[in-house]
Amino acid sequence: MAMRRGSIPGTSGRVRPLRLLGDTGLAAPCEEVTDFGPDLARLVEDMFATMYAAGGVGLAANQVGVGLRVFVYDCPDDEDRRHLGHVVNPRLVSTDGVVLRGPEGCLSLPGLEAGTPRFDEAVVEGFTLDGRPVRVEGSGFFARCLQHECDHLDGGLYVDRLTGWRRRRTLRAARRAPWAAEAG
Ligand SMILES: [Zn+2]
Repeated sequence: MAMRRGSIPGTSGRVRPLRLLGDTGLAAPCEEVTDFGPDLARLVEDMFATMYAAGGVGLAANQVGVGLRVFVYDCPDDEDRRHLGHVVNPRLVSTDGVVLRGPEGCLSLPGLEAGTPRFDEAVVEGFTLDGRPVRVEGSGFFARCLQHECDHLDGGLYVDRLTGWRRRRTLRAARRAPWAAEAG
């Protein structure tokens, strides 16, 4: 779908600082949005700007220090179709298909990646920033993205889904990462 000139998300947004692994806001469940006003539109716009600046494909509000149930995405699926949007108060209503272990990273653990198990299909329902119901269906890498962002809003990170040596290796790399000191 073509976008009108001037409607490209993020172009008027402000890049906000990213919260990194160790930030307590990443480990707490986010609150439901009840105010669908201009502050919410501003938040979504800033989240797009922040996601694009960091080269990400998805971003949850608590990654910029806002404890509200909102995420944005601009993410390809396995057929290279582009999916672009945002969801307010998302619910992961179904997951299906095989569970695949595929490479997954996160803007809150910059530079790291680990094979993480995810369902191959996912459906999220929620609302747009002006309060209209929205349903987003994803497969492949985009389904992975939807599950990853929903985890964030419940206070989870992909490392929580890892076990054994993958988990140990990723947490060790996070401790040694150049950003680990500022994450505290
Ligand atoms: Zn993430």
